[in-house]
Amino acid sequence: MNEFTLIDAYFKSLSERVGGLRCDLGIGDDAALVTVPHGKQLAITTDTLIESVHFPRETFPADIGYKALAVNLSDLAAMGARPAWYTLCLSLPAFSTAWLESFCSGLEELMRQQPITLIGGDTTRGPLSISIQAMGLVDSGCALRRDTARPGDDIYVSGCIGDAGVGLRVVQQKLAVDGEALQTAVNRLNRPQPRNSLGEALTTLASACIDVSDGLMADMNHLLSKSQVGADIDLDKVPMATALTTGTVLARLGFVDASPSSVRRFAVSAGDDYELCFTAPPAHRSQIELAAQQAGVTVTRFGAVTQAPGIFDSARGGEMISPLGYSHF
Ligand code: ADP
Ligand code: MG
Repeated sequence: MNEFTLIDAYFKSLSERVGGLRCDLGIGDDAALVTVPHGKQLAITTDTLIESVHFPRETFPADIGYKALAVNLSDLAAMGARPAWYTLCLSLPAFSTAWLESFCSGLEELMRQQPITLIGGDTTRGPLSISIQAMGLVDSGCALRRDTARPGDDIYVSGCIGDAGVGLRVVQQKLAVDGEALQTAVNRLNRPQPRNSLGEALTTLASACIDVSDGLMADMNHLLSKSQVGADIDLDKVPMATALTTGTVLARLGFVDASPSSVRRFAVSAGDDYELCFTAPPAHRSQIELAAQQAGVTVTRFGAVTQAPGIFDSARGGEMISPLGYSHF
């Protein structure tokens, strides 16, 4: 099979089987053509996954495909943009039918949950890496940004935090897998649920938004710094992962005395959650609650934006919180 029959057999066929918004010209020409509807802006994001950096060698190809798309959808969610189209650049060490079929099945699973159309890409031989560029549509001027939080706004996070961090320790074989909580944690690492419906609903309600990839504190800190504000939070309110409320898991993670605050610190700096952290004026509380219910996800208010920079935990006597998270360099 050469490069062109491979593209037709897997990617053109995938894009014909499932998809969302139509495009004017898809896979098969030198470039794809799309029309941005009047009154909309195109939100564009890209994310690369590299073997041994973003996922271990043993990861199932279906999980790699799913996650490569999920992390891009999460960036669109954080902007409040509705997913429209994506391109896929794949570097493969060798041709393998089994690998490609599994990889495409992971992409397809998410494309069915969250419609988005594959419109092009590039396929080369080389070390395994997957780059996706996703494009979404948002009403002009209504995208959610990081630099627009205001003092007095509430701070929220969707879902719960820390499962993926536990899952990572499991796949790194730092924790043995047994029990439902650990399985859930691995599943949350491999199959994050991008919060696109919530993100879209927040365009009229939130003042600023970011998705949590590097850790809740690190990403919240990015939002705060960009907005030139600080935060007063209550770490105890951050909703914790199920795995982190299980005694045996905590013991194996090395939290010998399982002090709630050290466990929480782990959860808020672990990363890979792909939840949304956002700010909103207090007047929007009930509407935000309603929007979250409609999107089928919980949201938790855990702090407020302050004029003064820095992150403080007022519930712990104003202790300063370090915003450390994952950094590649
Ligand atoms: P060119 O050499 O002109 O860049 P390619 O041979 O790389 O074109 O690609 C041929 C067509 O197949 C293009 O429309 C391209 O967008 C599409 N394509 C290539 N690789 C992929 C892929 N991994 N996923 C989706 N579409 C792809
Ligand atoms: Mg090419």
